Order: sequence, then structure tokens, then C-alpha cells
Amino acid sequence: MNEQAIQESVISLKGVGDKTAALFSKCNVHNVGDLIHYYPRAYDEYGEIKRVSDSRVGEICTVRCVITGSITNRKVRNLSILNFAASDITGQIKFTYFNMPYLRSSLRSGKYYIFRGMLQQKGTSLVMEQAQIFTDEEYIPLSGSMQPRYPLVKGLTNNTVIKTVKQGLMLTAGMDDPIPEDIISEMGLTSINDAIRNIHFPSSKDKLLKAHRRLAFDEFLTFIIKVRLLKQQSDESVNIHKMIPVSDTERLLECLPFNLTATQGHIWEEIQKDLGGKHVMNRLIQGDVGSGKTILAFLALLMTASNGYQGAIMAPTEVLARQHYESFVDMTEKYGLNLKPVLLVGSLSAAQKKAAQKLIAEGDANLIVGTNALMQEKVSYKNLALVITDEQHRFGVRQRSLLAGKGEECHVLAMSATPIPRTLAIILYGDLHISILNEMPGGRLPIKNCVVGPNYRPTAYKFIADQVAQGHQAYVICPMIEQGEMDGVENVTDYTQTLKAMLPPSVRIDMLHGKMKPAVKDELMEEFSKGNIDVLVSTTVIEVGINVPNATVMMIENAERFGLAQLHQLRGRVGRGNAQSYCIFINSTGKEEAQKRLDIMNHSNDGFKIAEEDLKQRGPGDFFGVRQSGDLNFAVGDIYNDSDLLQKAALYADKILEEDPDLKMAKYEKLRRILYPNGLISFDFSTL
Ligand code: ADP
Ligand code: MG
Repeated sequence: MNEQAIQESVISLKGVGDKTAALFSKCNVHNVGDLIHYYPRAYDEYGEIKRVSDSRVGEICTVRCVITGSITNRKVRNLSILNFAASDITGQIKFTYFNMPYLRSSLRSGKYYIFRGMLQQKGTSLVMEQAQIFTDEEYIPLSGSMQPRYPLVKGLTNNTVIKTVKQGLMLTAGMDDPIPEDIISEMGLTSINDAIRNIHFPSSKDKLLKAHRRLAFDEFLTFIIKVRLLKQQSDESVNIHKMIPVSDTERLLECLPFNLTATQGHIWEEIQKDLGGKHVMNRLIQGDVGSGKTILAFLALLMTASNGYQGAIMAPTEVLARQHYESFVDMTEKYGLNLKPVLLVGSLSAAQKKAAQKLIAEGDANLIVGTNALMQEKVSYKNLALVITDEQHRFGVRQRSLLAGKGEECHVLAMSATPIPRTLAIILYGDLHISILNEMPGGRLPIKNCVVGPNYRPTAYKFIADQVAQGHQAYVICPMIEQGEMDGVENVTDYTQTLKAMLPPSVRIDMLHGKMKPAVKDELMEEFSKGNIDVLVSTTVIEVGINVPNATVMMIENAERFGLAQLHQLRGRVGRGNAQSYCIFINSTGKEEAQKRLDIMNHSNDGFKIAEEDLKQRGPGDFFGVRQSGDLNFAVGDIYNDSDLLQKAALYADKILEEDPDLKMAKYEKLRRILYPNGLISFDFSTL
């Protein structure tokens, strides 16, 4: 094939004009290469048509039915509701459609249609809401296939993506395989062409699994090679910001209302040694939620400032950045420290940003707190010597290059609360020195857990009301934002209404989710942390880093839908103060498998143990298992589900680099091009 096709802009494809190209670019799809690697997030299986009596309640079913009787449409407040019944010789289903009044004129009573949707039982009736409707001719070509569902942005339809991807696949048919043949055959992998085709349009479930496996392997392999090369680089980097221990940090430690735990103390020693050492610091602190990483960051920043340099800490969200900033300002004032903190986040006004940038550029700020706004081109630093990244390790690797143009080689301290099993940590964090903070500050009561079914809800609500009456606060987590495609999954919007009806009127309830503007989110978090909201119903946006010690209840709806690492993160939002805290996991499926996984949460509060157990329970290539989310996300691979692949990829990465450290051999030509896209010998770390 023509290798140039990969570079061609999507705008050269049929049906893609300026407008669509702009939408694609929002999804980071610029050229054909990006397009064919823009993978579906899910697939719709167009199953065989079944008789009504053979269709199972709770599943997506396809039936062929004739509309009997009339099609009615009524209005309830702003909602229009369309109803009709349709049946085959074995049974009847009642159909409901919201806000689709036009169906009344396009559908005919007495005619057969094919309906596809979630079959539900209400009372004695079978019902389907918002079922898809097809004619026989329309359904035949789809039958038995799996159709991709792509991640979309507003204005971009799934159909547009499908059509465009199809063209991309035609253009790139027969591309060279980046992985040498011997590895492919030893690993029993499918070819890259086959894999790319089947990840978009799987001809069967088996083909999809094989495609997934192949692409995950590629992803892991290139990632690990990058990490290995990065390690070589950083091992050689000389420390040009040599620091000496200072009395300020000693004084701070004396003033604090607590003593560092032994492990915190030990890690602090390591950091001091790094900062004063021969080579640049590249350290990761892996510490369970609530283990007290922030104070270590603060000590390092204070040492940096006292040595006359600037230090920066980047958080993944504005909420977290503000929280750090406020607590740093607090400590600076309270303990009379020689620090000049400044906050730089996206939601500041243009004037505020400019002022902050000036302070940073002229060195009038020496402790800089922010989000990835810190990495923007406009920000220049006077003498940045330390960069800390909180709760997002990959950030840590990435910003090194982005900040490279801003200052000389910086020290990097990454902090992550995703406990991962040792075997995987060695592979994924191979470029960093790892400190493990596995000791919790004393005096905290362990969180009490329970895993229960939905029928426990009334008890849970009563419990929450009691806790609120005692002056505490609670979180309730739902997977979705609003009523949508997923049946049987709780959403924040409706749940908030339900809770308002169920809890006493004095309980102040509000909701939070990722589609809100950052400023609104911040304000809600602020109100919650001030105690002006009692119960916060939220999606997992609160997952990361938030510290509200007065919150004592975490209730997680559809807990079965989350990865254990993620559940552990969520649970870590409570148990941060002196009061007893509780975590209620609602398991909405009766499935034993889900129960078994959640039992792990029930029996342990130790993140590292949970991660090990999680890994043990998963079979290799458990593709349809729960995906983890968080800072270790790959596009296809899942470090837990595909841990076998990850480990094999690590072995091959070592073998390849041993054989050919610069990837000069012909068989690594394409791999080299993927690793060094512009022929440059430095990386674009943003792909890490
Ligand atoms: P995380 O590791 O999850 O980021 P934080 O740094 O936010 O945790 O710490 C959680 C809480 O524990 C904070 O309120 C912090 O002040 C407190 N803390 C940290 N270290 C200690 C300690 N050695 N003894 C008692 N409390 C501590
Ligand atoms: Mg933290």
C-alpha cells in the first residue's frame, strides 16, 4: 500500500468538509493514520430475529412484530409519549417512544417491522422503550453483525465516523506490519491489517478478541520500549539544580500538628538525597489514598524554594489544584514560611492569568500550583527546578518534554494513588525510582464496608440521614450523568431527585458531574468541603484526590460496573477524619462473579492487596471484563485484563533493545518510525 496514505488529512476523504474535519480534530483525529486508530468504544450486536416468547427479559432482543391497534401520542408536561402494541404469533410487546411524535405518521398499524431494544417486564406486560425500528430490507445486511459505536463529540454522528473509517481502511489496506514476523508467529498474533479491520468491523466475536489482543500487544510493546529508552536518558542526566538540606523544612516538621510516619520520614530522606544527588530526580511515590503524600510534596517544594529555585505542582483537576493551593497558602501563613505561592488554572480570568504568568516569569512566585495550564507555551519560568505531578503518573512522564523548553532539566516527583501489583509496576514505571508509602497515619479508624443489593437502599438512606443529623456528610456515586442508552444503570440527575424525595427536607443534596463547567464544579466542591452541602450525588469526577475529612459515608451504585482499583479510589474519599466511616457498595446484578469481586473490597482496605487479588481473579484476555480507568489507561489494552500480554511485551521489548538498541535493523524499520514519528531521535512524550 501507499505508506503516504497514513499522513493524508481526513479532509481529503469523501463527505468530510471543513466542518466535519474540525469535529474530527476535536477527537484528535487529523489524518488517516489517526482515523484508523480511532477505535470504537463499544459494539452493537445485531442478533438473530427471535420470537417474542424466546426473547429474554433484561437483554437486547430483536423481534419481528406487526403493529396491532392504534398508535397514540400524548403530552405530559414537556414530554411527548408515543405508545403502541405489536406482536408475533407467540406474544405481544408494548412499545414506548419519548419525544418522537413523528413516528405516528411514519409507522402503519397492520404492518410488520423489526424492533431491536432492551426487553423489560412491567407488571404482566413485556415492554421496550426507544427500540430501534427497521424494515426487513434494512435489517438483513445487519443481521448477525457487530456494528461499532464510536466515541463522539457534539455534531459528529456515529454514521459519519463509520463511513469515514471505511474509506480510511480502504486506503490503508495492505500496510506493512510494524512487528517483525518472528514475534508475530511466536505470540500467535493476528496481522495488523486484520486487527485494524476487525477492531472497527468485527466479523465475529472471536475476530474481535484477536484484534484486541494484537493491538494491545502493539500498544504495550511501544510503550515499554519508550519507557526503557527514557530510563537510559534520565539515568544519564546530570543534576544541575543541586540542593542542600535547609532549616525551613526542619522547622515546618516541628510545627506540624502531627509527626511524619516512619515511612513518610524515610521517603522524605530519599527525596532530599535525590535533590542533592549527582543525577536528576525521577521518583514515583506510590501511596494508598490518604497515606499522606501531599505533605511530602510540600516539603520538597519548600526545600526547592529555600534553595532559590522555583517548584511546581500539577494536579489533574482544578478542584484539586485549588485545594492544594489553599492548604499551601495556609501553611505558609501559619508557619511564617518563606514561600510565595501562586495558582494558575484554566478558569482564571485573562488578567489573573497574565498576573500569575508575570510572577512566574520574573521569579516573584516560587511555588506554583496548577493544572496542565502550567505547561502551556505562554508560561515561562525563571528557574524551574522541580515538577511534581499529583495523582497522575503519566502526566509526570509527559510534562518533562513539554517543560524541557521552559527550563533546564528538572527534577520530577510523581505521586500516584493507584496501587498496582509489583510485577506490573516494575514494567510500567520502569523509568522511575519507586517509593512505596504503605503505612497509614495512625489514629484512623478503618472504614467499615458492606456489599448489598438494591433492596438495601431504604436502610442506606436512613443511615445517611442519621449520619447527616450527626453533622457528617455523604457521597453517592452513580456511573451515568443522565438517563441514556444504558438501562439498569443509575444516573446522577434522576438519582438526585429520588434522594430529595427520600431524605428529610432538611438534608441539603446537590449533584456534580463531568459535563459541568469547571467553575461550577469547583464551586460545588467548595460548598461541599465547607459543609454547605450534606449529600453530594456525583459521577466518578470526585474520584481523584479530594479531601473532605467530615464526609463519612460513600455509597456506590452499580458498583459492579467499576474496576476494583477505581472503587478503592472512591472509597478513599471517606475515612479521612477521626470519625468512623462507611462504604456501601450496591451490587445491582445478582451475578456471582460480580459478588466475588466486590467481596475483595468488603474484606480489605489495603489498596495493594486489592490490586493483587484483582489481578489473580482475572483470566488472561478477559476482554469483556470491567475496564479499569484512571491514570494507567491505554487505548485498547487493560493492564489487569491483559496483564499476560503486558508481561510478554516487556520480555520482547528487552529482547529487541538488546539486539538492536537504536532500532537500526531493517526488520525494526516500521517500529522505529512509530516510535520516532518525525525521524527525530527524541520522543513526543505526549503519546506516553
Ligand atoms: P493522599 O496520600 O491521599 O494524597 P493526603 O496527603 O491528602 O493523602 O493526606 C490525608 C490526610 O492525612 C491529610 O489531612 C493530612 O494532613 C493527614 N496526614 C498526613 N500525614 C499524616 C501523619 N503523619 N499523621 C497524621 N495525619 C497525617
Ligand atoms: Mg492526594
